[in-house]
Amino acid sequence: MPNANIGLLPNHISPKKYDITIEPDLNQFDFSGNISIDIKIDRKTDTIRLNSSELQINSCQLSSKHGKVFTPNSISEEKDSENIFFKFEKEISPGDYILFISYNGTLNDKLRGFYRSQYKDSKGKIKHLATTQFEPTDARKAIPCWDEPKFKSNFKLRLIIPQNLQAISNMPILSTTAIGEKKIIEFAETPIMSTYLLAFIIGELSCIERSTPDGTLMRIWTTKDKEALGEFALDVSCNLLNYFNEYFGIPYPLPKLDHIAIPDFAAGAMENWGAITYRENALLVDPNKSSSMTKQNVASIISHEMAHMWFGDLVTMDWWNDLWLNESFASWMGDKAVDNLFPDWEIWNQFITYDTHEAFNLDGLENSHPIEQEVNNPGEIGQLFDAISYSKGASLLRMIESFIGAEIFRAGISNYLMKNAFGNATTKDLWVALSEASGKPISEIMDSWTNQTGYPWINANIELDSNKKINIEVRQQRFLFSNIVGKKTNSNQLWYIPLNIKTPLSSTETRTSFDKENESITIEKNIKESEPESNWVKINPGQTGFFKVNYNDENWQLLHKAIAQKLLPPADRVGLQNDAFSLSKSGLIPITRFLNICSAYIEETNAIVWQDLCSNLKSIGHQLSNTPYEKLFQTFTVSLLDSIKLKTNWDPTSSDKHLEMILRVTVLNTLGENGDPDTNSKANEIFEEYCTTGKIINPNIKSTVYSLVAKEGDQEVFDKLWTLQKDSELEEERVRILRSMTCFSDKLLLQQLLEKSLSDEIRYHNTIGIVVGIGNNPSGEELAWEFLKSNWEEFNRRYGEGGFSLMRLVGTPSNFKTATHLEDVEAFYLSNPAPSADRSINQTIENIKINIAWMNNNSKAIGDWLSN
Ligand SMILES: [Zn+2]
Repeated sequence: MPNANIGLLPNHISPKKYDITIEPDLNQFDFSGNISIDIKIDRKTDTIRLNSSELQINSCQLSSKHGKVFTPNSISEEKDSENIFFKFEKEISPGDYILFISYNGTLNDKLRGFYRSQYKDSKGKIKHLATTQFEPTDARKAIPCWDEPKFKSNFKLRLIIPQNLQAISNMPILSTTAIGEKKIIEFAETPIMSTYLLAFIIGELSCIERSTPDGTLMRIWTTKDKEALGEFALDVSCNLLNYFNEYFGIPYPLPKLDHIAIPDFAAGAMENWGAITYRENALLVDPNKSSSMTKQNVASIISHEMAHMWFGDLVTMDWWNDLWLNESFASWMGDKAVDNLFPDWEIWNQFITYDTHEAFNLDGLENSHPIEQEVNNPGEIGQLFDAISYSKGASLLRMIESFIGAEIFRAGISNYLMKNAFGNATTKDLWVALSEASGKPISEIMDSWTNQTGYPWINANIELDSNKKINIEVRQQRFLFSNIVGKKTNSNQLWYIPLNIKTPLSSTETRTSFDKENESITIEKNIKESEPESNWVKINPGQTGFFKVNYNDENWQLLHKAIAQKLLPPADRVGLQNDAFSLSKSGLIPITRFLNICSAYIEETNAIVWQDLCSNLKSIGHQLSNTPYEKLFQTFTVSLLDSIKLKTNWDPTSSDKHLEMILRVTVLNTLGENGDPDTNSKANEIFEEYCTTGKIINPNIKSTVYSLVAKEGDQEVFDKLWTLQKDSELEEERVRILRSMTCFSDKLLLQQLLEKSLSDEIRYHNTIGIVVGIGNNPSGEELAWEFLKSNWEEFNRRYGEGGFSLMRLVGTPSNFKTATHLEDVEAFYLSNPAPSADRSINQTIENIKINIAWMNNNSKAIGDWLSN
């Protein structure tokens, strides 16, 4: 629960209904507002306190039901807590009142609160739209309000806008009335909901629409003339609605659901109830120009946001410390629904890479945080939007679902939603519902996962005894990457681990659990002495458990053969190399164990397995860049791809399956990045042909072509790419090219790109990707860091209030690996603190320390191993 004295609003006054009228001015970039709030006062008070930020209050009045009017004799504001105080001369008695406030505000350019977005229309004319982004604590920048999730209310909204513009909000339009050059649009009243879910968007917008079988109006909105790019999203969202209605057992509660693409947008998307907003490339698909991966991203993001319509919007966390409930659930549920729609995408195998491994990477740091994290102010709340809240939580939900069974889990979720509909809930409430459904002590099991930072690794010693049984000794310990810098873990930190074990000797998995430091498990199986190779043991089959596993030498060797012969499914093949990689990165096992296991994958054919493995190889390659071992390691990496290279090529066809596209791009990228001459010259050839003859590049290989061309490219290539992105009307293509342009090796070109990143040619939401991208390029890490330091003031102005952008930005120097760099980074952030991203700064510094230790421990060992 939040600390009481940090500006949280008292409970004795609560809002019941907001009646809001807003008139934005898209020329002056400001707005005026009038708001009447039905409030209930529970005890005598002379002060009404609510949230307001960056608003100018013109007048305020309080009236009782009987028409008695009170005017405050002072209005004061506390900037730090974003509180506003209306103080009255006499105490107000308990009862129902209407609080009226007239105010003004600015349509800012910071992509938060009520803000403006600029774009060019199809004729190249500059246009503006106005839109909102309120989560977590920016509704107070548009309306004075009780801006905490537990103060749920009904909202009635009226917008006064020019005749030629459209307006969208959470609910359908009730009436439109012309007044001179303008019109008043009145929306239907919302059901009871939290302030952060309110939304309104005003601009020259158009839509495509469809009615779903249950009568929900589904619409995809874009700026004018782009609406055809919404077809894919419309199909997907209609199908998803059916799936969710059925899974939750509660029909979608609003009459319509709008999806709106916004040219400037800080996050990927935002789950405003009934009016979901997106970045353009998170919603729009061009059937001719979009890649298969963009379709997957779009479907996944829509699905995540639609899951929020129930989980987050219908039932909302009581306070932000339970943000994970919203985000983890939407991430997990979103993937489940996408898997149902697109089973051949192998979403759950991808989940292991994109969620579980992502969470492992962050949560393996000392500077991680527990899932349930106490937060008190907007800066702290904003920092919760990280891989812990999204991906660790989602991985834990997958672990419990696997533990109690999918149907029981669904029943528990449905009960939880029904019980708490139109209200607020906590993590405890979810565990209670799942315990009731399963008859298992879910709270007891999950507390160790949600209250503690980090996760365990299991050391398993496996012996085959003379009675033909398998004896497994397991020991758990917190996993820390900083083990490599000599950090010791606390042996009191233990987890309740659901433990599944698979051996080829048995058709069923052994399912057990342990919560002590050590445990002995015996599996009564008939060991085949004649076939010693089939006596391997795989702990955590399917990688549903949120922990890493190490084995004794013999079992690693048996698993090596099992991987090579594909006796294990792709999920396990993804997991085994990844566990070995992280364990070696933290110094818990020698790096050579990971390098040895790589050779088990030379006949691998699964796209997701390659993707994860190549990303680990890339990480080592990055560490070894500019060392004597760089070339040796590149040769090693290319040699691992010898076999799969023959199965992939540069010629995608329309009949290619989604995973074939992923595989092709993964293999070609890895070959090209590691200097494979054939791959790079082919990329240049394709690009050249495109530039000279206009021969279209298949969208699925565009990103590979652009980035490999950039890697070896000169000023001419730079200019061509820059013009291509500038002239492109598709945000997806612009982002793809900008991302590729961070891959130049030429430092002068990287510097040019950095300079452009802060110019008005680049959207605010794309700047960060350029700076961080160049920071991830061994040729650019120094440049990106120097650029960040010398432009800190502007970065701070734009992004300093916190959020995804700032958290990513401060991580720019994460790849440094020398003590001099470490000192520089520490000194800079000490004198230029970013309180809304201080945890990310600590994580960055920790990562640099790990890199330094890794270099000392491993670079020579790798060199020796490769030379032999
Ligand atoms: Zn979300």
